[in-house]
Amino acid sequence: MKPEVIDKLRDIVGADGATDDAAELLVYECDALTLFKNSPDVVVFPADTEQVAAVVRLANEYGIPFLPRGAGTGLSGGALALEGGIIIELQQLNRILSVDAENRTAVVQPGVVNLHLSQAVAHLGLYYAPDPSSQVACSIGGNVAENAGGPHCLKYGMTTNHVLEVEAVAADGTVVRLGSKTGERIGYDMVGALVGSEGTFAIVTEITVRLLKKPQSVKTLLAAFRSVEDSSRAVSDVIAAGIVPAALEFVDRRTTEAVEASVYAAGYPLDAAASLLIEIDGFEVAVEDTQASIVDVCRRNNAFEVRLARSEAERARLWMGRKGAFGAMGRISPDMITMDAVIPRTRLPEVLTAIERLSEQHAMPVANVFHAGDGNLHPLILYDGRDADQVERIHALGEAIMEVCVGVGGALSGEHGIGVEKKDFMCMIFNDDDLAAMRRAKGVFNPDGLLNPGKVFPSRPSCSEVGPGVTRTAEAARRIDEYVRGAGEARA
Ligand SMILES: Cc1cc2nc3c(=O)[nH]c(=O)nc-3n(C[C@H](O)[C@H](O)[C@H](O)COP(=O)(O)OP(=O)(O)OC[C@H]3O[C@@H](n4cnc5c(N)ncnc54)[C@H](O)[C@@H]3O)c2cc1C
Repeated sequence: MKPEVIDKLRDIVGADGATDDAAELLVYECDALTLFKNSPDVVVFPADTEQVAAVVRLANEYGIPFLPRGAGTGLSGGALALEGGIIIELQQLNRILSVDAENRTAVVQPGVVNLHLSQAVAHLGLYYAPDPSSQVACSIGGNVAENAGGPHCLKYGMTTNHVLEVEAVAADGTVVRLGSKTGERIGYDMVGALVGSEGTFAIVTEITVRLLKKPQSVKTLLAAFRSVEDSSRAVSDVIAAGIVPAALEFVDRRTTEAVEASVYAAGYPLDAAASLLIEIDGFEVAVEDTQASIVDVCRRNNAFEVRLARSEAERARLWMGRKGAFGAMGRISPDMITMDAVIPRTRLPEVLTAIERLSEQHAMPVANVFHAGDGNLHPLILYDGRDADQVERIHALGEAIMEVCVGVGGALSGEHGIGVEKKDFMCMIFNDDDLAAMRRAKGVFNPDGLLNPGKVFPSRPSCSEVGPGVTRTAEAARRIDEYVRGAGEARA
């Protein structure tokens, strides 16, 4: 990058507001998906919307790629500077600007850490519902970009259901305000378009979010099962019974081993093939009734232990295990890649069996810990990044797992986004016409493609090169039958 551009950036954000130091740039060469890396040329730390807009205008003037970055906890490579250029890191915009307790809303800057908002409004009996497991670190701006979910999104909805209004810097540097403080989306639903656009439509600089009242009563249960099939059936049966728990999370044996060996040890039973962490909230009387129904469903599905957290400390400990699970994998593997797919809940047993078979075939361990209630799987492929052969095999295994999920009628992502990681899987679901329509939408927001290039769309020019998605997924569906039959025969 030309030195004059760095000088001009420093004129905008101040001498300390930009770095092109090679050692410092190492921090920004990837997000939490460490499999893909590329360094930006420079990182800037703007202090307000005007500075963000001025940086964007400068990037346009010189034709330099640029992209926003929050806390860098993304798991699909969204904050990766694929073509170098400028990373606009938004951590300085980290203030809660106002809280309206009566209308239960808050106005925040994008760099506010998700958990900090709930902590700041706790004394008012309020909280911010979307709770990614990364909530101690991830930013609300990053949540908006990825339409982040979390354990409690089963009952309360994803980020998109909690964003009322945004201020954003468009790709050409103009500042726009979309949505309304009352949540009415008048005219085209531009907030809806922006949430989940993975940092490729605009840079969000202010967000008005909905706050919820803390429930009167909360109960947390841990149910342990000797077989994955029984636990999966319990998940389906809970939902089929018309119960919507606040959260319904799945933790398999491999994850339990990692968690229990780590600082997040939560007392999960090590002899369980799978455990379910189930939370119910609402009015006291209703919660008691629902708890009894859930215990009944779990027992009918052969749970050998159903434990109720008896205190807030016990409850927090059970959650610490789940929310720390990804981090705990470091106890059993040097590296991991966290996949993200959604499947119909009723297909959980066969998909988990198929994933186990694929894991054996590719000789790569896979752990499973995920938001079971909404069918949002997170197979964690464990590997050693120092071994080139293993790194090579991850791609094949990841693709095979995705084909299985899509083959049962699933989707490529529940919450982590497509980013770089899954862009070449888009042809499994969409054809060239579908993708052309999406490209046109992107073109409206980001006509020159300078904002966060190289994301979401497949690198190949046409999906026809890999065959129609329908054929591939039908083929995958056939293979699932094979895996499931094969696993059955192996057990016999
Ligand atoms: C241990 C762990 C657990 C996780 N658990 C969950 C989970 O339960 N649910 C879930 O949904 N995700 C989860 N994630 C993924 C990740 O935390 C979320 O995707 C989160 O929303 C990313 O926020 P961030 O601030 O780190 O964004 P970054 O990683 O910095 O960026 C993510 C994307 O958002 C864009 N972006 C960032 N800020 C802005 C902005 N202000 N305006 C426009 N675009 C912007 C970036 O360009 C990038 O494309 C987890 C990650 C980890 C490491």
